Amino acid sequence: MSELKEKKQVLRDETVAYKCDFCDKVEHEYSTYKDTWYRFSRSHQGWGNDSCESYESFDVCSVRCFTAILKKELSELSAYARHDAEIADMPFAFAQSLAAALNKSEEQAA
Ligand SMILES: [Zn+2]
Repeated sequence: MSELKEKKQVLRDETVAYKCDFCDKVEHEYSTYKDTWYRFSRSHQGWGNDSCESYESFDVCSVRCFTAILKKELSELSAYARHDAEIADMPFAFAQSLAAALNKSEEQAA
């Protein structure tokens, strides 16, 4: 077998920045992203409708943004609570307790 070679330019996608899925803040510095941001996902094993895909991942820049997405996703996930629903590696019921505890501490801070 002989190989014929020719020079080819290949285009590939490269990550140049990260965007917070809640507040749209953009971070260009990977080390800052890696050290101070959080990536998590949510999933369920139930049959879904189009508005709730079974798996989705998020990047957040702060605890405030994490809490906001957690609450929003929990309300969407509630329909799938009995189908191995998970968010940020927590079972649905545990995440719900966490959200309730966060709500309480926000009320006390206000
Ligand atoms: Zn954010």
